[in-house]
Amino acid sequence: MPCEVKPRFVVLYGSQKGQAQSIAEGIAEEAEAYGLVADLSCLNENEKYNLEKESAPVVFVVSTTGDGEPPDNAFQFVKSIKRKTLSTDHYKHLCYALLALGDTNYANFCNCGKTIERRLQELGAKQFYATGYADDGVGLELVVDPWLKGLWKAIKESLSKMASDGNAYLKKIGASVPTDSKFASVASSSASAVSDLKPAFPVALAASLTCSVPPLCESSLNVPALPPAYLDVSLQEVDTVEEIVGPLHKETLHHVQISKAVQLTRGDAVKTALLLELDISAYPTMAYQPGDSFDVFCPNRAAEVDHLLHRLGLQNQRNHHVTISLKKDTKKKGAQVPSYIPQDVSLLFLLTWCLEIRSVPKKAFLRALVEHTRDSTQRRRLQELCSKQGAADYNLYVRDPSLSVLELLTAFPSCSPPLTLLIEHLPKLQSRPYSAASSHLRHPGKLHFVFNVVEIPACSGRPAGRRGLCTGWLFDLINPGVVFPGKAESSSSPALPKIHVSLRPNSSFRPPPDPSVPFIMVGPGTGVAPFIGFLQQREEERQKNPKAVFGETWLFFGCRHRERDYLFREELEGFVSSGTLSHLKVCFSRDHREDEDTTTSAACPRYVQHNLLLNSQHVTDILLRQNGCLYVCGDAKNMAKDVNETLMEIIKTELQVDQLEAMKRLAGLREEKRYLQDIWG
Ligand code: FAD
Repeated sequence: MPCEVKPRFVVLYGSQKGQAQSIAEGIAEEAEAYGLVADLSCLNENEKYNLEKESAPVVFVVSTTGDGEPPDNAFQFVKSIKRKTLSTDHYKHLCYALLALGDTNYANFCNCGKTIERRLQELGAKQFYATGYADDGVGLELVVDPWLKGLWKAIKESLSKMASDGNAYLKKIGASVPTDSKFASVASSSASAVSDLKPAFPVALAASLTCSVPPLCESSLNVPALPPAYLDVSLQEVDTVEEIVGPLHKETLHHVQISKAVQLTRGDAVKTALLLELDISAYPTMAYQPGDSFDVFCPNRAAEVDHLLHRLGLQNQRNHHVTISLKKDTKKKGAQVPSYIPQDVSLLFLLTWCLEIRSVPKKAFLRALVEHTRDSTQRRRLQELCSKQGAADYNLYVRDPSLSVLELLTAFPSCSPPLTLLIEHLPKLQSRPYSAASSHLRHPGKLHFVFNVVEIPACSGRPAGRRGLCTGWLFDLINPGVVFPGKAESSSSPALPKIHVSLRPNSSFRPPPDPSVPFIMVGPGTGVAPFIGFLQQREEERQKNPKAVFGETWLFFGCRHRERDYLFREELEGFVSSGTLSHLKVCFSRDHREDEDTTTSAACPRYVQHNLLLNSQHVTDILLRQNGCLYVCGDAKNMAKDVNETLMEIIKTELQVDQLEAMKRLAGLREEKRYLQDIWG
């Protein structure tokens, strides 16, 4: 019998947090249903693919990280295609489609995808399907789902074209392409699924995580195909119980002492801001510059790990060692044992330090949970939440409130997934970055940082609110050792603990190397952190070189109330008195007299952008006439966008140019690294 050769295509991904990877894996898995074979590789596995000789269609799925940077595992690839020596027909033979993931809350939306696309085109590659730009700020699925749906037809047509061009795939095209196999219709699939369709539960008046209302509870559902299992996990009893002290050792990871903890806000402030001082004197690799940030490694909360162990029925096996291997006959393309889970660690270690157990379960995870849910009402609701028809409910009850798997399992008591499923679906526990809020010249051997304790409110499915993982953990760690400004430090304060940290590389968010260059800093709330470092450094430099020329410095700061959450007030006023800070512009969003006209920002600057507008002439002068720099730090969701729009307005008005020209000027400033952002959301 002749062996059938299925037409092949290539899927390449670059992924920071695993989203692009899981979409790419999904494409590779589905290929078979379309009579195709997908060769899946990560962009950094360049031994597995060869674009220089590739004749099959290539699908790229890439995310963007930081300030428009490629993900770590796409970095080398992006660098390699940017080489100026490549000729304009280097990729003439290449046919590609690209799905770019990004977040419009950050600058340089989908920049990595856009860069790859631009270079592919400059090097002669041909696009066979329009590029998708998915926005995590509003929900990736809004773009990803329809993009994936159209992809198969586009691949088929691309292969068809190649075939008609004399390609060897000639007779294979269109062999067995199903109409739409991504969404197996529940209404028409298995008998058990059909029985689940009837709303078996009483129709509730209001929808919630566990209850739906018409029309959703009465509709036929399109649920995603069941993700194939790919791991075998076993637990072995061991003789000795290890003590878990922290994440696994890495060269760059240091266990440093918290030497001071200060609460910067008053007790009645809406958010609690804390400053921690770390003693890094013993670690030369922690030597930092103002503008640098560093990672804090935090564990999952012991109570949540414990609860999860109970919920999985594994409380008595917590000290067993976990062995993970790849399922031999798995259908999952590119399946790998997660690299972030070391072999032979205990189950307790795995749940404490390796998996982000609070991550929001993706739809594929919900789909997999359906198979382990006994109660038909709960099964139906889980199906709804991962279905096309239930997308709005998924956003409302799962994604927006950042529901965790534990909260989901609590709401769906008849769901009992095996441990394997959690290891297959939960991502790596990420360290949390924080900006240095000090200069080593002012505080030798010390590193300061500032954070707000994140408070996540209760919601449907979460009866009690919770704190952010890292900030909540730090808050608990340092209490009751926290001191309040103005209050004398007691010599009997309880000793503070140590935490695991490592420095993050950064080369651009730094004060201008030439001290005569003027610069503007915009940093409301904890966004002021790096600028405290900038100004401490500047003050030290001024004292050492009193004759040197120093450019003007501006700081735009904002908070809710002057008396409650004006962070670093004394220090900032001190910088002004010493002449280190030329202009300090502060606004308070909630301190208003009743008779105040709040309709115009001129009458009442509430937010940093209002103060920028009030000083537009100076801003333009520094940025566009004196070749100065502008730094923005803090909240990515609202502030950074508002500041960007205000800058556009300022440029338009001051230079009398149109929107397009203002955009070009701002883009130019970014390119010259004179408009820099360090933002988070
Ligand atoms: P997590 O447990 O990670 O929870 C945060 C998540 O909870 C949010 O992403 C959101 O999904 C969810 N959430 C938050 N509020 C709500 C809500 N009301 N309802 C529902 N869900 C909600 N932070 C600082 O405070 N200071 C800094 O100097 C600083 N520097 C940074 C520098 C960089 C380069 C980056 C990338 C980030 C920085 N951050 C900083 C942010 C910081 O890394 C953490 O993200 C932040 O402290 C929250 O961490 P967490 O673990 O406590 O919260």
